Amino acid sequence: MISTSRKPRAFAPDPAAPGLQCDTPGCEHAGEYRAPKSRTSLREFHWFCLDHVRAYNAGWDYYRGMAPEEIEVEIRADSSWQRPTWPLGQQGKQARLDEAAEAELHAFAFGTRPKAPPKQDIPAELREALGIFGLAWPVAFATVKAKYKELAKRHHPDANNGSKQSEEMLKHVNLAYAALRAKLATAPQAPAD
Ligand SMILES: [Zn+2]
Repeated sequence: MISTSRKPRAFAPDPAAPGLQCDTPGCEHAGEYRAPKSRTSLREFHWFCLDHVRAYNAGWDYYRGMAPEEIEVEIRADSSWQRPTWPLGQQGKQARLDEAAEAELHAFAFGTRPKAPPKQDIPAELREALGIFGLAWPVAFATVKAKYKELAKRHHPDANNGSKQSEEMLKHVNLAYAALRAKLATAPQAPAD
C-alpha cells in the first residue's frame, strides 16, 4: 500500500541566489536554489535549477533527515529478525552523529529538514542491512564489499578474544552482506570483479 500522506517539499527560488546558471554542467537554467557543498563548508553552496536541486536533494541518505532517536526507531521497526542488544559501538555512534549533522546542515541550507523519500525507494529487505553497514541507498556493490571486509575483520571473534558479542555481531554482518549481495550482485550497476 502506498502512503499518500507525503507532503510536497516547499521549494521556492532563493532571493539570495547570485543570478548565475545552474551548477550542473550543461544545464542552462538559472541556479535559484541553494544546496550545501559539504557540511565542513557551511557557507558554500551549489546553486541549482529546481530539477537539479531536487535531484541533489534526493541523493541525501534516507536516514539523514531523522534525528538519531528516530533512526534507531526506524531501524528497530523494520527489523525482520530480532535486533541483537549489542551496542553499535563507536562507529555506529559516529555515523548517527554524522547523520544528525547532515540534518542540521540541510536545515540550514533549505530551511527545513529533508523529507524521507517514500519507503519503496529502499528495498524493504535491505533497510536493516544498510543500517548495519552504515551505507546509504543506492549503493554500489563494490562499496558494500569493501565495507564487508572491514566489518568482518573488525568483528571477527579471533580479533576480539573470542568475544560472544563479536560472534553475534559478525553473524549479523554476514546476514546483512548476504542480503545486499543478493540484491546488488545481479543489478546492472554491479561492477565486474
Ligand atoms: Zn539545472
